[in-house]
Amino acid sequence: MLRPYMPLTTPFQDDMTTIGVLGAGQLGRMLALAGLPLGLRFRFLDPVPNSPAGALAEHIVAAYTDEQAVARFMDGLDVITYEFENVPVELLNYMASKVPVYPMPVALEKGQDRFIEKSFFKSLGIPTPDFMDVNSKMALDEAVRQLGLPAILKTRRLGYDGKGQFVLRSNSDVDFAWTAMANPVLILEKLVPFDRELSILGVRGKDGQTEFYPLIENRHREGILRLSLSPAPRLMLELQAKAEGYAQSVMAALGYVGVLAIELFQVGDQLIANEMAPRVHNSGHWTIEGAVTSQFENHLRAVVGLPLGSTRTPGSCAMLNLIGSLPDANAILRIDGAHLHLYGKDARPGRKLGHVTLVDRNLGPLNEKIELLKGLIDQ
Ligand code: AMP
Repeated sequence: MLRPYMPLTTPFQDDMTTIGVLGAGQLGRMLALAGLPLGLRFRFLDPVPNSPAGALAEHIVAAYTDEQAVARFMDGLDVITYEFENVPVELLNYMASKVPVYPMPVALEKGQDRFIEKSFFKSLGIPTPDFMDVNSKMALDEAVRQLGLPAILKTRRLGYDGKGQFVLRSNSDVDFAWTAMANPVLILEKLVPFDRELSILGVRGKDGQTEFYPLIENRHREGILRLSLSPAPRLMLELQAKAEGYAQSVMAALGYVGVLAIELFQVGDQLIANEMAPRVHNSGHWTIEGAVTSQFENHLRAVVGLPLGSTRTPGSCAMLNLIGSLPDANAILRIDGAHLHLYGKDARPGRKLGHVTLVDRNLGPLNEKIELLKGLIDQ
């Protein structure tokens, strides 16, 4: 479905940098919110009408395979980036032959397939859960034999928020999952008995300058991120350095430009990489209020070639996702230090509709605010 091209009320100024973004969801919306003050202009391509970013900039509503729409999208762009990972890599490669695309399409290629992604981590010496490629029932039985149970069976591609996954604890789970998945392109991973889940967010500029945010602790329920805490409580310098080292080697290997997120499991003083996202990330939303420069602004600075901003964090932050239903804004905003972000989406079970960031200098009062907020929202 195509929405007619709407000229903006003010004519385009030739010296304005225009960024094309694939995907017009909440990440795109927050990119635009961060970029407009920098004098950047945006154009989004996304097949879903009335997407969150469409309220802020031109939104071409069309399939990624619509050649005419793609041509219109690319017309006059200075740089292309993406906020959505399930964009065809071939499309991104085609675009990169005409307009700079950051992060480079190879990053998306690695991140789209869990087997390629974990093999890539391994090749860089980054620990991962033990894993095996599964393309038949026989291969699954062999993988279960070699890795042992419990294990987790996942689709190699297109899974997100825990969708397309089965935890296998017994042989009957194996048979059930194989039938239920009805998909022979899978990966079996050993289930990691992690202490907690963390993520590291880094940003790399075109000149190779890199900056990192503090490790973030993430709590999920039903596969969906509910709460992020930054800095992760009881964070040791050694753990931060280890995470930065891993992210640094991924970024260097890919000649990376932009924000990169890596999701990690902590087991004792070890970090085990689960997956990476070559884009701004839900676990970094707190940076809007909690860091000197947000992940969104830093991503934009990187892709347009501006100096990166400081990732320093003056205090502690919590970010709670608003999932499925919208809360009472009045009650939330009565909490001192609470910031409400709504994405302009219709409520639907399991859908991320917004988030709230809480900031405080100290962890004690922050925890009290988290408890207050939890009483106001569906968690
Ligand atoms: P993913 O879609 O790969 O990010 O997985 C979604 C969630 O499933 C993660 O956030 C973890 O809570 C859990 N999970 C995924 N893989 C593993 C694993 N190998 N061991 C333990 N838990 C896992």
